[in-house]
Amino acid sequence: MRLSQSFIPTLKETPKEAQITSHRLMLRAGLVRQTTSGIYAWLPTGLRVLRRISDIIREEQDRINAQEVLMPTIQSADLWRRSGRYDAYGPEMLRIQDRHQRELLYGPTNEEMITDLFGQSVKSYKDLPQVLYQIQWKFRDEVRPRFGVMRGREFLMKDAYSFDVDYASALTNYRRMLLSYLRIFQRLGVRAVPMRADTGPIGGDLSYEFLVLAPTGESSVFYDSTLEEQDWLAEAVDFNDPQALEEFFNRVTVPYAATDEVHDVEAWKAVPSDRKREGRGIEVGHIFYFSNKYTESMGITVSGHDGVPFHPEMGSYGIGVSRLVGAIIEAKHDENGIIWPDSVAPFRAVILNLKMGDADCDRVCECLYTSASQQFLYDDRSERAGVKFADADLMGHPWQIVVGPRGANAGVVELKRRATGERREVSVDEALTLVMAS
Ligand code: ATP
Ligand code: MG
Repeated sequence: MRLSQSFIPTLKETPKEAQITSHRLMLRAGLVRQTTSGIYAWLPTGLRVLRRISDIIREEQDRINAQEVLMPTIQSADLWRRSGRYDAYGPEMLRIQDRHQRELLYGPTNEEMITDLFGQSVKSYKDLPQVLYQIQWKFRDEVRPRFGVMRGREFLMKDAYSFDVDYASALTNYRRMLLSYLRIFQRLGVRAVPMRADTGPIGGDLSYEFLVLAPTGESSVFYDSTLEEQDWLAEAVDFNDPQALEEFFNRVTVPYAATDEVHDVEAWKAVPSDRKREGRGIEVGHIFYFSNKYTESMGITVSGHDGVPFHPEMGSYGIGVSRLVGAIIEAKHDENGIIWPDSVAPFRAVILNLKMGDADCDRVCECLYTSASQQFLYDDRSERAGVKFADADLMGHPWQIVVGPRGANAGVVELKRRATGERREVSVDEALTLVMAS
């Protein structure tokens, strides 16, 4: 994309309404704009990041054989009356009436709808297990929308739902999801620590939240530092082997990690003091097993191998896709701007032409740009070098390819790595090779 022709409205001033760094940087780098309280429009670069995050989530959910669906955002109130949640949900639910005075709502989550879809089509234990997911907008009329996309009213969520014949099989799916989530967050370039969380009225201990550690997080967290140091992508756990998943799960969930809601002071005492970490975290994911709560309340049965009908076991598994954009920035920035991890960056690199109109500079830049124009942002504006450097740092591209007249004449460019600040002179070919390999 050529910056001179693009719609990337960066701001020099810090917007007053933004209280936290990620919100400020998202507005300043031109990723989003608020259209009304807690509702955001995603501009070209912001959308690219949202898509890259979604793509990684898709790859990892598909890997464990979860199947993608797309459910509507608008749901009927009757569906929610069947589970009893229409009245229970409260003012966070946006309730709507159509022209025939039929009651609808903008979905805050999809347990009822997926359970109904499942019940319409699955009649026998032979069709289990099933794991379905979607990446879809949700609406929750939060009392206090704040921190930009972090706590919005309309937000993008990946929500998955599992259906199983019995507890053992449901537990296997739950463990598989835990592994999938650890892989997803690591690939996104952030540390998200799995922590024991509140199970609410349903009870049990099968509720884990994934928290990105950041001082601006809304939850207080207590955890054993060993959980931060693991390389989950190096784990060779076979997703199809329940035994291997159990062994993995037991290993991961032994070190202490809890949000303040379920913090256990006695258990915390047993953690060696040099491994104790206390701080704040942003909830970016949540996995939850809830037995047959919805299949039972909504009257969904399938026939068992003995012919006797039963209510399948379920779990649900969420990831805050749009919240993650903010959470990643909270974890990856410096005083000059965003530092995108390679895996989610809107562009691999920015090409900075320091002297537009100089024959050598223009030639080298065009040559670089046309080699991968979809993946590069080309700063071809007639701006001072200082402005270009500042905007490049603000927008956080993993690499900056700096093209000045002297170097261009000799076929040399300066390559800067945003994360470390490291700079080096390399040939045009070498720059391309390094950038494309990351
Ligand atoms: P929170 O405690 O932050 O309100 P929640 O526990 O109500 O979240 P879940 O129902 O578990 O949220 O939804 C799954 C994921 O969706 C959360 O882990 C979070 O990342 C994201 N999410 C929830 N509410 C919002 C929101 N208002 N804005 C952006 N993302 C959200
Ligand atoms: Mg939650």
